[in-house]
Amino acid sequence: MNTNTIAAIATAVSPAGLSVIRISGEDAFSIIDKIYRSKSGHKKLSEQPSHTIHYGYIYDGEEMIDEVLVLLMRAPKTFTTEDTVEIDCHGGVLVTRKILDTVVKYGASLAQPGEFTKRAFLNGRMDLSEAEAVLDVIHAKNEFALQASVKQLKGSVAKKIRELRNDILDSIAFIESALDDPEHISIDGYDEQLKGILIAMQKELKRLAMQYQNGRMLSEGIKTVILGKPNAGKSSLMNRLTGQERAIVTEIAGTTRDTLEEQVQIGGIGFQMIDTAGIRNTADVVEKIGVERAKQAAEEADLILYVVDASQPLDESDLEIISMIEQKKAIILLNKTDLEAKLTVEELQSQCPSHPILMISAKTEEGMEKLEATLQQMFIEGKISFNDEVYITNARHKECLDNSIKSIEKVLESIEAGLPEDFYTIDLMDAYSSLGLILGEAVEEDLVNRIFSKFCMGK
Ligand code: GDP
Repeated sequence: MNTNTIAAIATAVSPAGLSVIRISGEDAFSIIDKIYRSKSGHKKLSEQPSHTIHYGYIYDGEEMIDEVLVLLMRAPKTFTTEDTVEIDCHGGVLVTRKILDTVVKYGASLAQPGEFTKRAFLNGRMDLSEAEAVLDVIHAKNEFALQASVKQLKGSVAKKIRELRNDILDSIAFIESALDDPEHISIDGYDEQLKGILIAMQKELKRLAMQYQNGRMLSEGIKTVILGKPNAGKSSLMNRLTGQERAIVTEIAGTTRDTLEEQVQIGGIGFQMIDTAGIRNTADVVEKIGVERAKQAAEEADLILYVVDASQPLDESDLEIISMIEQKKAIILLNKTDLEAKLTVEELQSQCPSHPILMISAKTEEGMEKLEATLQQMFIEGKISFNDEVYITNARHKECLDNSIKSIEKVLESIEAGLPEDFYTIDLMDAYSSLGLILGEAVEEDLVNRIFSKFCMGK
């Protein structure tokens, strides 16, 4: 079906310990033969057994590019079911690109985003929900999201959906055959029976659809908003947490005028950190917008980090923030504890008795470890359970579920209205195909292309 040989960098293109270049297609072995040399210089990889690893060097003509490990995997026992070669090289961006360029120079074409997974799907290696789960694994921002996606990959969603589709098909088949052969198959009283089946099914579908919210939280991270007055140290904290100098840190109050977002991993948990403009009464129009955005972000937050400057006494703006966060999950950070204190933990605690307070210094990093441990702990003690739940983490799946719920609803309405049975089968069939879309059955080609184009290069 796909005969050309494709290649891409399969790992994230950033300085890392290791990068992988993946080559798939019928020329994968002949290409590697042209660019690989073993220590002795004589080993031909195309003559080596499948699923073996070889140490050596990648050469472009006489120029040695990198010391590598090469993994050989012959069709059909590979991810794409095609001949596949993976080159593990040292992680530098330049070196990795250079190896990819060499692979292309000797006959491969650059893979489209998601093309490896698309081939796996087209070659019958996985169904669509599994293919999409691969995408989610790549994008999973934390270990738990990863677990949910891996579960989906193993087919727990697919299994559930197949069961539901089976039940629908049974009902359709029964109605159709009863209508065809009324002499032998009686449909009397089937209305009630079908109603029971559909109500149970509806419950199951709604449960799956509801979990999408949790699924979103798993893949995007916990929405964490940093609040505080101007100059309290919000941007400094953001920079400490993300390990980058992205937020602008200055001594002039009111410099962070908009919200900044960054994904961070703390103890395997993904947080979507949002740094906001300082909250105070201000006449500056731009700053005012920032303050409004901060308030809005706070309302939508899963968690708030409220930064208080310990070298300043509390004022009205602080009291306003304290009242804003009263009903929210929050950690209060008494910052700048390296300076002379004008505000104690006790004073602060008396103003906000229900939230934990930690002493930190974004400057010296004092207390940052404690903060990270607290964040982890709060999450672990939180409400999200992973256990054996089947999670729908994908927006497209959610839409298909919603459509099938609507179709089943219509059948239930038809039963209530006492409409003839052949009315049921149309909507049952709709529900059946909506669920089929999750598995990639009867999917239009453009939909398939759209899904795979969302994949990263190299997958
Ligand atoms: P923001 O306006 O709340 O984002 O505050 P910034 O992060 O821009 O910090 C304002 C000023 O306070 C800058 O000069 C920072 O260097 C300083 N600052 C932030 N955190 C600390 C801290 O823990 N100790 C000390 N001494 N200075 C800090």
